[in-house]
Parts: sequence; structure tokens; C-alpha cells
Amino acid sequence: MKKALFIDRDGIVNKKIPHDYVKKIEEFTFQDEILPILAWGKSHEYLLILITNQQGIGKGIMSESDLQTIHNHMNSILLDKIGLCFDDIYFCPDLAESESFRRKPNPGMLLEAIEKWHINPQQSWMIGDSISDAKAGKISETRTILVGNYSAEQVPEADFIIKDLHDVLSILEHTKGQ
Ligand SMILES: [Mg+2]
Repeated sequence: MKKALFIDRDGIVNKKIPHDYVKKIEEFTFQDEILPILAWGKSHEYLLILITNQQGIGKGIMSESDLQTIHNHMNSILLDKIGLCFDDIYFCPDLAESESFRRKPNPGMLLEAIEKWHINPQQSWMIGDSISDAKAGKISETRTILVGNYSAEQVPEADFIIKDLHDVLSILEHTKGQ
């Protein structure tokens, strides 16, 4: 069985745009803080799998091809900076009100990846900045790290809540082998 770091995109890999979507590469602001996390994951034999809700497509604000362009750009930044990129990318274009099984907080995308790559979820992590990331991870039986200003009471699905992406690495390091 393999293990994976399941990584949310907006707010983790790139800066979130309040009340809008990243529709073109000019709007994609890469966050260098993700680099050591991905590099650590790769060197510890985790698959790197992006799990992202992108309802801007469902709303007709952007196309799947726009998203593909942004993801090619993201992976080329990663290859350029640290010589690796995501092993796989899952996105959900469905609208929030669809309550799609694939859209976080539902686990569909994670379960697809777990099946395809023969991943042991209990050895894996979901890392994101929204409550829906922690929920999707928990339902999928991964461990979860939630980045942001949340309380444990508010998000019981989060195994760890941290304010800053910088602190992810110490959690991964300290729970290694557990
Ligand atoms: Mg996010």
C-alpha cells in the first residue's frame, strides 16, 4: 500500500482570491511555503495528490481548459523550483448546491485517488485551509491538518489545527512512523 499527502490548492499551494476564482495564470500566486512540505513528502515516499474544488467551472466563469493551463503552470513552477510536481490532480467542477459526492466536504475525489493508487488512508494526510478539507479527509480516514484560524471545538474533524503553513512540516516530522 502507498501513502499520500492530499493537498488542497487555493490557500495552500497558491493564495486564495477572496470571493473569486483563479481563472488564469496571472491570478495564480504561488506560495513558496508549500515547497518544503512537498519535498519532504516526496523524500518520505508519499504520493503528492492535489484535491481541489473548482466550482468556477460549474458556474461558467472559467473552462476546464483554463484550469488545465493553471495546473500546467503550477506543476512547471514546482519542477523548476524543487524538481518534482504533483503525481495526480483531482478537481471537482460541481456547484456547492449540487452536494456532489466528489466535492469536498464529501470524500469522492479522495476515495477515487485512494482506489486508483492503492493508498492506505490511515498512513496519509489531508492538508487544507477549509473546514471542508478536514471533513473530507476524516470521512476518507486520512489524518488531517487544517491551516487557519479555527478552534478544535469548531472542527472536530481536524487532527491538527495550525495558524501557519510553516508548522505543517514539524507535525509530519513528529508523527513520522506513527
Ligand atoms: Mg483551500
